[in-house]
Amino acid sequence: MATQSEISKLAVFNETVFFLIAHLRLWTREGDSTGGATGVTATSVADVHSILFKCKNEFCPFFHCERPKSLGDDIKACHDQHDTAHAISRYKLGVINEDRLISLFKDLCLIDAPSLGEKDCVAWTKKYIQDIGWECWEDEGGKAIGGNANNLIVKVPGNKPGAPRIFFSAHFDTVEPTAGLVIEERDGVFYSASDTILGADDKAGMAPAIEALRAIQEDGQEHGDVFLLFSCAEEIGLKGAAAMKLDEYNFAYGFVLDTGPSVGTFVNRTAFHDKLDITVYGKPAHAGKDPEKGINAIYVASRAIAQMKVGRISPNTTSNLGIISGGTGVNIVCPEVFIRAEARSTDVAELDEQVNHMIKLFDEAATEAQTTVKIDHRRHYDAYIVEETAPVIQTAQRAAKNLGLEGSLRVTLGGSDANVFNSMGIPSIVVATGMDKIHTHDEFVSRADLLKTTELAYQIILEAAR
Ligand SMILES: [Zn+2]
Repeated sequence: MATQSEISKLAVFNETVFFLIAHLRLWTREGDSTGGATGVTATSVADVHSILFKCKNEFCPFFHCERPKSLGDDIKACHDQHDTAHAISRYKLGVINEDRLISLFKDLCLIDAPSLGEKDCVAWTKKYIQDIGWECWEDEGGKAIGGNANNLIVKVPGNKPGAPRIFFSAHFDTVEPTAGLVIEERDGVFYSASDTILGADDKAGMAPAIEALRAIQEDGQEHGDVFLLFSCAEEIGLKGAAAMKLDEYNFAYGFVLDTGPSVGTFVNRTAFHDKLDITVYGKPAHAGKDPEKGINAIYVASRAIAQMKVGRISPNTTSNLGIISGGTGVNIVCPEVFIRAEARSTDVAELDEQVNHMIKLFDEAATEAQTTVKIDHRRHYDAYIVEETAPVIQTAQRAAKNLGLEGSLRVTLGGSDANVFNSMGIPSIVVATGMDKIHTHDEFVSRADLLKTTELAYQIILEAAR
């Protein structure tokens, strides 16, 4: 229920659609309780716009309206007079509890959750979910992947028979430890003020998923079964999701809240991803006494690497040398070098070409130096494409449109749990959350984008059940 002080917070006018929607939510319940039906039924942002545009009140706050923007407490009078809240209520814009959302997001970020060490975060989340009154359980994923925590599965049964069963997914773990995190909010944007990362990847997915579902229930909306799949060890190779056993759930489709801006865009296409572990063998010898008796593995590896195409290979393809280690002493001709490399592409032929190029250079350098190399090459995960006509995309795009968002589709070379779910035969797309500069100390996410993501998840639940 909105208070007068909350309403007066709206004095600052903002022309963007989202600002309007986010704040109009505050009136929705009041509109329900005061009634005053106008007979207007709004089913889209365009409808709402036209309803609001007809408002002749001189203090009308709504977008595209030429009226004065100075509102103050008169905003409530405008609301009462024109039944806008009623129209918005009919339009079913969710009443998102912003304070609760932000505090959930921060609480989740503040729990240290490195990959394979997510136990505390899983336990905290489980209790939070149980306190809401939802059924949740851990699977046995932790054992399978060698972590200290299991994946967490949450079930919220639907109240609309026949509606498709959907899920939202996000991951617990962060790329680096977040122990000692201090969160700082500057101009409505959350950053890490400590040496750690913020860990918005992927708490900016978890918090909106939970809060959207909570708002749907509190608003008494009709929905199908909605599950939350919170995974462990995503960052080190989608391990938690891969250990999930989802056959028996019969999901129609799912949404993975785990990519960067802008909110309202979706990833429906990702890359094939190959990994290479390369061991170049040399021959040890004393560096001062008998260097001619040795074969320097660092030198051999360098000969291969110096000729190698790395980085951006084409618009579809990338490659990287990520880890190199070797050597036993400065006075010893290096006997062995280990290199971990990868390549990604949306085009499997291009990927194969790049990987073969890398392997060939190591082979040639080893042969030239009369030594050997061992290469372990494996496909880390397969690409996926979800067709634009698929219900999962149609649902997401309708939801985005409801909020005046673009709903465009994009491709990424990054992997996510959606790769795993698609490989299990469950059509899944990645939903942008607004988290940015992820995997760096400069990572951030804005309050507005957390709210917008929650609004979007709310609309997805509604649209899936339509
Ligand atoms: Zn992530």
